[in-house]
Amino acid sequence: DIVYLDSHFVPKEQAKISVFDRGFLFADAVYEVTAVIDGQLIDFNGHFQRLQRSCKELGLSLPITKELLVDVHHELIEKNNLHEGLIYLQITRGADSSRFFDFPSSSVPSTIVAFVQHSTVVNHPNAKKGISVISVEDIRWQRCDIKTVALLAACLAKHHAHQQGADDAILIKDGYITEGSSSNFFIVNRDNEIITRPLSQDILPGITRQAIIQLAQEEGLKITERRFTLDEAKKAKEAFISSATTLIWPVISIDNEDINQGAVGHLSQRLRDIYLDKALKK
Ligand code: PMP
Repeated sequence: DIVYLDSHFVPKEQAKISVFDRGFLFADAVYEVTAVIDGQLIDFNGHFQRLQRSCKELGLSLPITKELLVDVHHELIEKNNLHEGLIYLQITRGADSSRFFDFPSSSVPSTIVAFVQHSTVVNHPNAKKGISVISVEDIRWQRCDIKTVALLAACLAKHHAHQQGADDAILIKDGYITEGSSSNFFIVNRDNEIITRPLSQDILPGITRQAIIQLAQEEGLKITERRFTLDEAKKAKEAFISSATTLIWPVISIDNEDINQGAVGHLSQRLRDIYLDKALKK
């Protein structure tokens, strides 16, 4: 594979960064993951806007223009012959040969890395069969709205889920579900109302989440942004997660309790189909 590192495209074995890089030492870095289907970037504008926002919130100046970043993504698709999968992009506050916590001088250049991941997006088996999740306490910090690479809590949550034989974890804060370990979380109640937690510093403003809200409204479906408890989710008619990596995956059990008798929900399936349809037509 060919990787992008600081203005150069190099074979992945040659892509090396400093041990003093602040992304490595402090998780002082932001990232984005964009899906690629049929060689096309999905919702790139949304991902770029969120990247700008993450940088702004951390006082990290975005060292590359949108146009250049689009070119980098397209070149990675081409050079790696990526038909379907993901593009991972990370920007760190650079390396300054010290381990001072305070920001380095503005003359220290940021590090930009991007690479492709070949993976199945459209016909992923989990989209058809659904996934099982367990609930774990949300032990993350108070700025989950910024997409930083400080992902240890998410790694632990995913690890616990896999150890217990589940596919993923959903996170609980003060008795309410915030989101998935690397996704947003939705339920559908008996009145076919789609419900997801409102945006705040407690969750990541998912680009897929936003697209789902918009298309649900266009389809005349009832969609509400409000908090809901784990108990309400377990009693829901359907549940699903959303992210660039998964698009929409139905959730068919929570803490070993079946949702929709363990079958993929009708509305979850329909939303996924419409989302894919729209994304590919853009
Ligand atoms: N929440 C968290 C915690 C995530 O890590 C992700 C995926 N990066 C999402 C939500 C979904 O965001 P998106 O739809 O932009 O991929």
